[in-house]
Amino acid sequence: MPDPVVVLIEDEPQIRRFLRATLTGQGYRLFEATTGADGLVEVGSRQPDVVIVDLGLPDVDGIDVIQRLREWSAVPIIVLSARGQERDKVTALDAGADDYVSKPFGAGELLARIRVALRHTVGASHEADDAAFTVGELRMDLLRRQVFVGDREVRLTPIEYKLLATLVRHAGKVVTHQQLLREVWGPTHTDQAHYVRVYMAHLRHKLEAEPARPRYLLTEPGVGYRLAAE
Ligand code: CA
Repeated sequence: MPDPVVVLIEDEPQIRRFLRATLTGQGYRLFEATTGADGLVEVGSRQPDVVIVDLGLPDVDGIDVIQRLREWSAVPIIVLSARGQERDKVTALDAGADDYVSKPFGAGELLARIRVALRHTVGASHEADDAAFTVGELRMDLLRRQVFVGDREVRLTPIEYKLLATLVRHAGKVVTHQQLLREVWGPTHTDQAHYVRVYMAHLRHKLEAEPARPRYLLTEPGVGYRLAAE
């Protein structure tokens, strides 16, 4: 596979410098833009494998960039956002972003997010690989609809199964409360946020060694949940 191409849309010079060192050091080909308008042009001309967008840009809101990109591109989008702005993260994800990293972030965290984004792109063409999902002791067989922790098969209710299957489909990426409600319960239940909390608690009790300190079903405060992928 040729070196993956990343387009970074970010106006802060320090962050661009940091990402340039991190990404080129890992073999990524990086193209940079400092405004939303230039960023859209870069994505159109470079055909990147991943786009990284800062939400606070000098010309337009990062959310607008995401919406514009989603009109014609399915490229994975990772958002850079200031810590604590949960509302912005949710808006970005609902606008079509795939994931986010909160500033300040470490190189390891961002690289892990990029790996997940690339895996989804590559994996899309290998359906057989998607029939089973394994992380740590947790294994889900999507063909036989079976779930195991180690050697032990775990019985799930239909809703629990659907919730876990949805997280597996987005493994490694954050999924918002709204997305989970829509995909598991359907579009008419998107205001029933407590459903997700209740059923997530059930799943944790069945799948986690320590439900209060989950290893697989991780909480993203104020945003949603993330199934650990590594
Ligand atoms: Ca900025």
